[in-house]
Amino acid sequence: MALIVQKYGGTSVGSIERIQAVADRVLRARAAGDSVVVVVSAMSGETNRLIALAKEVQSRPNARELDALVATGEQVTSALLAMALESRGQPARSYTGAQVKILTDSAFNKARIQAIDTDSIRDELQAGRVVVVAGFQGVNPEGDITTLGRGGSDTSAVAIAAALQADECQIYTDVDGVYTTDPRVEPRARRLDRITFEEMLEMASLGSKVLQIRSVEFAGKYNVPLRVLSSFVDGPGTLITLEDEVVEQAVISGIAFNRDEAQLTIKGVPDHPGIAYAILGPIAEANIEVDMILQNVGADNTTDFTFTVQHVDYDKALDILRAAAKNLGAREVSGNPKIVKISLVGVGMRSHAGIAAKMFKVLADEKINIRMISTSEIKISVVVDDKYLELAVRTLHDAFELDAPAALIG
Ligand code: ADP
Ligand code: ASP
Ligand code: MG
Repeated sequence: MALIVQKYGGTSVGSIERIQAVADRVLRARAAGDSVVVVVSAMSGETNRLIALAKEVQSRPNARELDALVATGEQVTSALLAMALESRGQPARSYTGAQVKILTDSAFNKARIQAIDTDSIRDELQAGRVVVVAGFQGVNPEGDITTLGRGGSDTSAVAIAAALQADECQIYTDVDGVYTTDPRVEPRARRLDRITFEEMLEMASLGSKVLQIRSVEFAGKYNVPLRVLSSFVDGPGTLITLEDEVVEQAVISGIAFNRDEAQLTIKGVPDHPGIAYAILGPIAEANIEVDMILQNVGADNTTDFTFTVQHVDYDKALDILRAAAKNLGAREVSGNPKIVKISLVGVGMRSHAGIAAKMFKVLADEKINIRMISTSEIKISVVVDDKYLELAVRTLHDAFELDAPAALIG
């Protein structure tokens, strides 16, 4: 008898019919003798709808109240699923994050889980009940409802699985696993049987929103066996696992992309120590996260500085940069929100040279101009104009033969 945590995403609980199908799936696990904790998302579209309502009332909604509002989406689906299970003769109880005592810090809208009280969950399981937990939410030490950031139900599930030392955490979604790239952009993308925590973390950080970044961090840290599966069709899904457990290791595991970045440039800044701080200090003070950074020094003792931020921060960052440019005596400030970051990810890159060069050649052959580049041990990212997204992803997918079964590292 195993202890399983199953998480169902928005599409998987998107209608009463889908919730009934989830109940049937939970029953199958129970019939196999497993204890089951289910974590649910809100019905698809519901979180966006609630955020839009909030914005009709207050243009920048109060963070505490926004969390109280958006957490209701998950409360609805958890109660409905418990009812569907009860109606099938399976005892079940729904719980909000606060009721389970998923204790978080007080960073509303992006809270971090600090502790989970597993006693009540264990008692319920012992009594033969299925425990249905509303995902995406917790409670801070003051008793306020908090939420964990978009896609946060994945993190609720993994954190509960870690706290309970569950045998597996299964993330049920609308694709049947983690693919070499988003199958919505490249239909020839291939499902991976396994991927390492490290690669999955890079993929998630670089824009593959199939799992929330923090859920992968948690799973890696506490070594939670994590599997991504479809709630629509049966299959083995993708197991996220330790590196030495991945037998067939391809050089490149996948291609991630992020449409959510914008580029800013300040040109002709007199080049002397402290320039990077003078430019990026005010950006950081405004709580704007900077991703890629590029600095070029020109022959005339001035420097050009380019960096990327998230779309939501673009206008604010541009204003700050214009103010900084005046103070610094810079020549010009410009911005480009129509960019996309495309990244190749694979632990096999560590032992393989020439991947970056091949990537650049493939893009050059398609006449796709690269605006920025950044590399780490297991990834290479480029920034290109967003109109090239599909072309670049598909061409790279083809060039690195990602649709073929994993090529072994020799
Ligand atoms: P849920 O609502 O179940 O949490 P999400 O929309 O958050 O589902 O995540 C599933 C989606 O992630 C898929 O529909 C797919 O379009 C997208 N996705 C992006 N990159 C990948 C990838 N590499 N493999 C699989 N799905 C991906
Ligand atoms: N409902 C939340 C969201 O849409 C959390 C989740 O689905 O994981 O972001
Ligand atoms: Mg999700």
